[in-house]
Amino acid sequence: MLLENIDYDNLKKRGFLRQKQEGFFILRARRRHGVFEGKHLESLIEISNKYAKGFIHATTRQGLEIPYIKYEDIPAVEIQIRQAGLETGTSGPRLRTTTCCPGNNWCKSGLINTFFLYDRIEQELNIKCALDLPHKFKIVISGCPNTCTRAQQSEIGVHGTIDFSTADKHIGYAVYLGGCGGKTPRMGFKLGKVFSEDEVLIIIKNVVDFFKHNAKPKQRLALLIEEIGREKFLKEVGLNGIG
Ligand code: SF4
Repeated sequence: MLLENIDYDNLKKRGFLRQKQEGFFILRARRRHGVFEGKHLESLIEISNKYAKGFIHATTRQGLEIPYIKYEDIPAVEIQIRQAGLETGTSGPRLRTTTCCPGNNWCKSGLINTFFLYDRIEQELNIKCALDLPHKFKIVISGCPNTCTRAQQSEIGVHGTIDFSTADKHIGYAVYLGGCGGKTPRMGFKLGKVFSEDEVLIIIKNVVDFFKHNAKPKQRLALLIEEIGREKFLKEVGLNGIG
């Protein structure tokens, strides 16, 4: 196969990113919740030794990447990845892997079960890594207001919090919308309410749907909100007066 005939975007969607060195690709491996078991790591070590250069790079979004995969080895690597119970990340105009800290599973500051929310987003909303969208879109979940996954700097950032406005001071969810990094960095704005987990799911669904149908190619959510105005955006996603 001539290099110019390769469908690079299709490979990118499948988690094989073209690297700087011609003819080589980076395998972007991921696991739900960012949790890799021994068998996953063993398989990645094997892939790295057999098809690449014997090292693995830990990414900023809880993935593990192996550079120097040759184009012709991609089908064999894909089979091994699936057999090991691993998934691949993605790149391009799509939803990235949702990142979450351990939350109350083992962090002593954790207020919410971040893994549980992660699973509900994937299973109930079918909002999963590699969903095609007009541009890059990130969802992050943090277990408490320390926001270790940086809830303020992603399109949708959720963190556990205590609702001090209620008599029982129950635990709920704070939500930030419209943050991003990159060439046009923006801090997300915090919604003026502590939500239940079910309400958070509705917000995520509405915001992703709105972005999918209204953003222009290469327009981050922050810039779409700036274009149409925050008030109109909130109205469109069912959050009138909560911004
Ligand atoms: S955000 Fe909170 S719960 Fe999550 S890792 Fe940081 S301190 Fe722990």
